[in-house]
Amino acid sequence: SHTVLSLIKPSGSLTLGNLLGALLPMGRQQDSARCFYGVADLHALTVPHDPGRLRALTTETATLLLAAGLDRSTLFVQSHVPAHSELAYLLESTAHVGELNRMIQFKEKGHGRPATRASLFTYPTLMAADILLYRPEQVPVGDDQRQHVELTRDLALRFNNAYGAVFAVPEIVTPPVAARVMDLADPTAKMGKSSAEGPGVIRLLDRPDVVRRAVARAVTDSDTGPDAVRPDREAKPGVTNLLEVLVACGGDPAGLTTYGALKAAVTDAVVATLEPLQKRYRDLAADPAHVHDVYADGAATARQVTAPVLAAARAAIGLT
Ligand code: ATP
Ligand code: MG
Repeated sequence: SHTVLSLIKPSGSLTLGNLLGALLPMGRQQDSARCFYGVADLHALTVPHDPGRLRALTTETATLLLAAGLDRSTLFVQSHVPAHSELAYLLESTAHVGELNRMIQFKEKGHGRPATRASLFTYPTLMAADILLYRPEQVPVGDDQRQHVELTRDLALRFNNAYGAVFAVPEIVTPPVAARVMDLADPTAKMGKSSAEGPGVIRLLDRPDVVRRAVARAVTDSDTGPDAVRPDREAKPGVTNLLEVLVACGGDPAGLTTYGALKAAVTDAVVATLEPLQKRYRDLAADPAHVHDVYADGAATARQVTAPVLAAARAAIGLT
């Protein structure tokens, strides 16, 4: 069976967008693929951070992956598998500053600011290591990461040409359009976990009253016509987002004619989706030794699986 790899950066508490757009699709892959899922703590060091908060978010994210049903995957924390940073260094020694400079994400987030961390600049080489260590045949990638995965391919090819055929060069595939949850307070912007605490973000561990308030305040529009509750991404982004969230959470939009009724239905559907996840999270959080064991086992498996790739790369590049 094929190999699937996906890492989530602990840059904030996971949101409803992360659940619908990532965690649930990741769960569905478990039946057909060999899945490696992890918490990308090293990637969280590329921007100013607080160590205590990173520690807490790493544990929370790890626990949420389990609570979301990813218990038939190899689960690990990136920094517990040192091969990621070791191979990243070999790839930094393969990459050129010119191509790293061309990365759009670096241009937008860090270029030209003297206090930008060097790790933000080299981030694409760590991401390339994340991928190449597991030899996935395909990497499904959204638009925002496409350039980085193209660089991953370029680095793998350049390394192979220079030193020998070490890396499998993965194919880039466009994933089936996943739900893209928008910020409830600004439905033209994506709901993101590292967004500032705002009224438009629903976190997976939010209590029902917090969800209700967020949905109640969600931006809609001033349409009061009989068919006001209808999807129209351009003209009615807020209503469209609420309808999509409703359907993704198993609700039924049929017969809803007012925004009040829509919001009540969305609240019920989201709360019903989060409730079992939060219950499992509480049970897991009460048994941290179990979560620790799952991730220790996962890291051991990941170290084992990646060791031959790292060893081959080390030998090929000339390390003794
Ligand atoms: P950040 O603000 O740190 O970028 P994020 O919430 O955008 O956080 P990522 O770590 O960038 O999360 O992505 C983790 C996964 O969640 C990816 O698979 C991404 O496609 C998915 N994802 C993130 N936000 C959404 C969203 N609003 N709707 C659907 N999927 C999302
Ligand atoms: Mg993001």
